[in-house]
Amino acid sequence: MIQENNFDVFVEQFADIRILRYKINGFDQLSLERKKLLYYLSEAALAGRDILFDQNYKHNLLIRDVLEAIYSLVSTREDDKDLLLKLETYMKRVWFSSGIHHHYSTDKFIPEFSETDLRKWLMWLDEEVVRKWSSLPTGEFIDFIVSEIMDASVNAKRVCQAVDVDLVAASANNFYEGVTQDEAESFYNAKKEQDGDEPVSHGLNTRLVKENDVISEQTYKVDGKYHGAIKRIIYWLDKSREVAETDQQKLVIDLLINHYTTGDLKKFDEYSIAWLKEQEAMVDFINGFIEVYGDPLGMKGTWESLVNVLDKQETIKARLVSENAQWFEDHSPVAENHKKKKVQGVTMKVINAVMLGGDCYPATPIGINLPNADWIREKHGSKSVTLNNITESHHLASLKTGLIEEFAWDEAEVAKYKKHGALADNLHTHLHECVGHGSGSMLPGVKMEDLKAYGSVIEETRADLFGLYFMADEKMVELGLIPSLEVAEVQYSSYIRNGLMVQLARIKKGDNIEQAHMRNRQLICKWVYEKGQEKHVIEQRERDGKTYFVVTDQAQLRELFGALLKEVQRIKSEGDYLAAQKLVETYGVEVDRPLHDEVLERYSKLGLAPYTGFVNPVLAPVSDGEGNIVDVTASYSESFTDQMLRYSRDYHHLEAQRV
Ligand code: ZN
Repeated sequence: MIQENNFDVFVEQFADIRILRYKINGFDQLSLERKKLLYYLSEAALAGRDILFDQNYKHNLLIRDVLEAIYSLVSTREDDKDLLLKLETYMKRVWFSSGIHHHYSTDKFIPEFSETDLRKWLMWLDEEVVRKWSSLPTGEFIDFIVSEIMDASVNAKRVCQAVDVDLVAASANNFYEGVTQDEAESFYNAKKEQDGDEPVSHGLNTRLVKENDVISEQTYKVDGKYHGAIKRIIYWLDKSREVAETDQQKLVIDLLINHYTTGDLKKFDEYSIAWLKEQEAMVDFINGFIEVYGDPLGMKGTWESLVNVLDKQETIKARLVSENAQWFEDHSPVAENHKKKKVQGVTMKVINAVMLGGDCYPATPIGINLPNADWIREKHGSKSVTLNNITESHHLASLKTGLIEEFAWDEAEVAKYKKHGALADNLHTHLHECVGHGSGSMLPGVKMEDLKAYGSVIEETRADLFGLYFMADEKMVELGLIPSLEVAEVQYSSYIRNGLMVQLARIKKGDNIEQAHMRNRQLICKWVYEKGQEKHVIEQRERDGKTYFVVTDQAQLRELFGALLKEVQRIKSEGDYLAAQKLVETYGVEVDRPLHDEVLERYSKLGLAPYTGFVNPVLAPVSDGEGNIVDVTASYSESFTDQMLRYSRDYHHLEAQRV
């Protein structure tokens, strides 16, 4: 699957971030029409870049402008190279996070240069340039920028999830202005009271403001909020429409343009339904206000885009898993009355990313399952995709970090991982997504909400276990999905390594695990470790003061995965909240302190960054001289800084808010 070994995925590393590159497998072999379609959709994916910066925090665009302006001065005038590096690092972090708050923790991060340095650089700015941004006297403007960048207590967190505070007031994002959490909630509750059985996602594409005691929404649309960027998105969508692959895809684009033009959320639902029904075309994309993680109230969608092309080979494998859904259900170790009588696999598409934009860039998901609206999912289903070339880059990069060598017990384990790691991981994902989530049934009257805050951890645990259990089934070899069960062995040992140790590198010293996927991994690993202790299924070993977890009995481990799957399915089927709580709190939340410290120390010696993002390829149209595109090329040599500066120059479609 990895076709070219000379393609270097590693770009650079700074702060806690590693930048990689991904390749569009098979791009050169695509037809001209498809290349054009990808190019136009890619332009639409980049055109909305400024929107996300502004949504994340209202002064992000201004701060980005200011940083880029001082960078162009400092890079030629500053003699202190260390200082220049500190400015570059901070600027890269702002680009990476689309703002001044960490993309993952959402805490404001502070540069390594001093306030004095920053003041000096700001003084170098032309008065004229400052006037573009502000009507404040220059001294006051400088004070303002200094406090925005240097003071961690000013707008400290982008998304606040704490209890007993006004979440709207405590969050620095730009979705609300002048309203309290109570006001926002009653505003939307009033709307929800009018809902029928096909409710729109209220507030998804608006900013809620209170002016002169009146609360109203500013809609993201043509002639509304974000007009400048949305107009450009529509321009490129219009062009892509002309080369759409199918009529259904034309319909998708038409509905999306209509939604962007009117701001009508009904149209967004229609677009989402048309999109999930579009199954024929090789080229596909998402573009819009979609995920709501950036809003503590879970209503406002951040703008994102992903342009992609089908990976035929991998899709065939995923379909094979999906087509055998009933076999998996029949052979699942869960109780008979918790099984589905008739189960249908989800047809998952495996794709290669072509362009990442907005909230998918530079940090990108490795899988997407949309649309989000519950009623659409129930009535029409959903479309699930995994990003093959992104996973591939992650994997290739991981082989060179020394991470596996550090945490694997011996050379044999390392060698097997290098041989099968990518294949093992892909298959686990297919099983998790195509059959895992869809398996099992609820007893009458039981709802997913019964598990409350533990619902998502239990659900991910269930899907992961389903995958782990079946990975080691002869059926996998029979279906031709893996050459031998050695692939399962690799998945088992890497899953245990990760769940018990490696993933702890993402947790700050002294903290516990909060994130759902991390909780589910530790839960599974700790549980099977404990239950298998007597029979030494997984051995904790020590060498040179370092801890290792070694799987010594694959067959028994599989039995344990099956046993836990049975219990987790029971919890879900019966809606057993107390059991869910006990399982998650006992195994998934608390971190083993000494082990955590050890992992942090070993990890830090490797000099690795815990977060990864990507630079995009450069797609360039080739013209025949008469305005016709005769080819589109993809190249992979642009640096992170060059790409960001180019994007700021070419896609600067929104004005920074003046101060
Ligand atoms: Zn999942």
